[in-house]
Amino acid sequence: MTNNLNYDVIICGAGPAGGTAAAVAARAGLKVALIEKQKLPRHKTCGGGMPMSVGKWLRDLAPDAFVESKVSHVRHTWNYGDAHLASINKPDADRKTVLWMAQRSTFDNAIAQSAVDAGAELRDGLAVRAMEIEKDRVVVRTSSTGDRQTQFVATARHVIGADGANGIVAKAANLRQQRRLAIGMEVEFPYDWNSSAHPHLRPEIVHLEYGALKHGYAWIFPKADHLNIGAGLLPPRGSQGSDRSVRMALKQAIFSYFDLFKLETDRERLRFHGHPLPLWQGKEPRHAADGKVLLVGDAAGLVNPLFGDGILHGVKSGAIAAECIVKGCADRYTQCLHDELANNFDAALKLSYFFYGFPHFWYQNAVKHPSGTPAAMRLLAGDLTFSDLFSFRLVGKLGQQFLSLR
Ligand SMILES: Cc1cc2nc3c(=O)[nH]c(=O)nc-3n(C[C@H](O)[C@H](O)[C@H](O)COP(=O)(O)OP(=O)(O)OC[C@H]3O[C@@H](n4cnc5c(N)ncnc54)[C@H](O)[C@@H]3O)c2cc1C
Repeated sequence: MTNNLNYDVIICGAGPAGGTAAAVAARAGLKVALIEKQKLPRHKTCGGGMPMSVGKWLRDLAPDAFVESKVSHVRHTWNYGDAHLASINKPDADRKTVLWMAQRSTFDNAIAQSAVDAGAELRDGLAVRAMEIEKDRVVVRTSSTGDRQTQFVATARHVIGADGANGIVAKAANLRQQRRLAIGMEVEFPYDWNSSAHPHLRPEIVHLEYGALKHGYAWIFPKADHLNIGAGLLPPRGSQGSDRSVRMALKQAIFSYFDLFKLETDRERLRFHGHPLPLWQGKEPRHAADGKVLLVGDAAGLVNPLFGDGILHGVKSGAIAAECIVKGCADRYTQCLHDELANNFDAALKLSYFFYGFPHFWYQNAVKHPSGTPAAMRLLAGDLTFSDLFSFRLVGKLGQQFLSLR
């Protein structure tokens, strides 16, 4: 069976970036198709941690629809020892913030449903297989992920590529031919908070470990009924090692958390999920063909090179892309996106070379500094920019100290 349909905007991929773009475009009255290759809700390999500032981009989506834990503290470690427990807020902060922990299946589904409520057509279980850019329109060819029999050919004035790290839209539009990929891995371990044996395993505490991996970190993120235990490598291009050695290193870092907190399980049965993280590598075109094709989120390479987070930036870029289309300035999308985040990400990239190059120095002097955690949380939320940070006395002083040690 083949269907042919015409839209103002076709959005490929219903992660946070695509779902947000669909909601914004549909609210403005555009005819929108949101195409997702998996049936929603679906698992997405992710820690699911985000600053609550993401809420302001999600408009009418209530946090209760997806937030499972509200985190107020971070427990940092170096090689699982030398622990430093810190509040994410300064003691004198006027407004206390928390970090939101969500399950991506619930979160992404909630955003997609808010797009549907605004009038978008959600077509899940359909994969985009090819895309052709014509003079006045873009043709998108899809088929069902199940039987491949149902084919759906759609055309639109604009296509938004929100199809993540492994998507096809960027390739089809000849965008992002050079990419810098990090890798992350996570496992979900069922956990009953009522029988929590370890005083530091708490629903309001996130754990971050910096010494276990070269150029990366490991984490425990608390959820309603499980712990998301993971590890990621954010190395400079080309210095990652073989796939096998990387996977082994990530698994070992995760197992070390099981040892530390005496989490009993049959390790052979744990389901590890790994996925690439397309890191920011600088300014580059993020739209093609005068704005007929726009890239958002991971498809656009918008993962923060220092922290490895991408949800907030996916949501922001989805909203910016849709707004550019609504306002009739899709050909200015790359500029608008870069105005919002390029300086900040460039500064984060610079800092990431210092941080992951000499993590022990930064652990002792910045992570464990009384202002370290609140500052990092403000950076994550976008309340403070990495570019601002370079003008801070503390960073200036640390920079000098760091250079004098080399
Ligand atoms: C292990 C790990 C942990 C992470 N932890 C965090 C974290 O705690 N906080 C954070 O902010 N970020 C985290 N990230 C990064 C975050 O997951 C991504 O940045 C974020 O998911 C990007 O959202 P997106 O909408 O751009 O893409 P995705 O969420 O990847 O969504 C893309 C969607 O497109 C669909 N798709 C792909 N190809 C096609 C196709 N051909 N046709 C139709 N649909 C298609 C996919 O099925 C998917 O649903 C983590 C990443 C990893 C790997």
